[in-house]
Order: sequence, then C-alpha cells, then structure tokens
Amino acid sequence: MRLILVGPPGAGKGTQAARLVAKHNIPQLSTGDMLRAAVAAETPIGLQAKAVMDAGGLVSDEIVVGIIRDRIKEADAQNGFILDGFPRTIAQADALAEMLKDNGLDLDAVIELRVDQSKLVNRIINRAEEAKAAGLPVRKDDDPEVFKDRLSAYNRDTAVVIPYYEKAGLLTIVDGMQSIDEVSAAISDVLSKLDEKV
Ligand code: AMP
Repeated sequence: MRLILVGPPGAGKGTQAARLVAKHNIPQLSTGDMLRAAVAAETPIGLQAKAVMDAGGLVSDEIVVGIIRDRIKEADAQNGFILDGFPRTIAQADALAEMLKDNGLDLDAVIELRVDQSKLVNRIINRAEEAKAAGLPVRKDDDPEVFKDRLSAYNRDTAVVIPYYEKAGLLTIVDGMQSIDEVSAAISDVLSKLDEKV
C-alpha cells in the first residue's frame, strides 16, 4: 500500500502514520524526520536545510525529492510506504508521480486530515508541553510564532496538492478534529474500502 497523509502542521499526520506503520508493517517516510536527522548529524543537506526549517519555511524541492527518491528504493519500502509531510508542493507531487511511474508503481490513496486551523496553535502548544513533560526535546519550529509561519507556508504552497489529488481521484477527507482513536478508525475505514475495490 502506498499512501499519502496530507494536512497542515499539527493535523496529526505523524501520530496517525506511526499507528499505520504498526498495523500495516510498512515504513513511515517523513521528510521532516529525515531532515531533522540530517540537521542533527550535520550532513551537507542538514547544514543547508537548518535555517529554513528553523524559520518555518520550506526546504528546496530538489533536496526533498532527492531524499524521497533514495528512500523509496530501500528494501523496507518495497511493499509500500506512508508519506508524511511529502509532497508539500505541486513540483514535489509531479516529481513523485514521475518516480513512481518510472518504477511501475501507483499511489493507492491520499488522505487529507482536515482540521480547524484556528485550533492548531493550541494543539502545537500542547505538543510542546507534552514533549517537555516526557523529557523529550521540544521542536524549535513548534514555537507558536514559527508555527504560524509553517501554517502560512502550508496555505501558500501545500494546500494546492489537495485539489491536485482530488482531480486524480485519489483523495479522501478525514475529519482530523476527532480524537486520535476516531481518526485512526476513520482512516482504517478508508483503507478497508480500498481493499474491497482491489
Ligand atoms: P514536518 O515535520 O513535516 O512538520 O517538517 C518540518 C520542517 O521540515 C518543515 O517546516 C520544512 O521546513 C521541512 N520539510 C519537511 N518536509 C518538507 C517537504 N516535503 N518540502 C519542503 N520542506 C519540508
């Protein structure tokens, strides 16, 4: 199964992707996680991406497309994957279509986690507090001011991928304002309907 989770930062993509990994035994390919790892390891890509990420902007299409192109070739991605945080621009969506086509692969579904953006800043403040309480590092870009820039980047550059996939007949909308369990159940429902279609 090859699936994309799309939605603004804080919509719950990472949480839901982690649950899908456990259930379907396919990897979560989060460009955000991969970029944070590159920043921490101070690789050339990490050094290039750090300032943009800290400011809540988007890393270049070239860099993220390169990361995904390499990642989907790895052994654990051969039975499928969940893309989380990619594609974030139409250019990335086009590049993904191209690389899948080159490998004779298709996307099975794109799930939009639809949320009330006015509630997201509070969600992100809670996420930072929970991380702190658990002794985990707090993401620098979860600072409320930076978060607003990430949301603007989403609305400016990424929201357009939703009609892109809708036109392709791949999009399903799930209400991301429900509880985590309810969102997981709704996603399971979408995926089981896909199984029926096959
Ligand atoms: P995320 O963990 O998905 O919220 O991503 C954290 C940050 O990494 C974003 O705010 C961007 O700066 C960068 N990033 C992650 N994925 C992408 C992408 N597909 N395209 C451009 N920048 C990205």
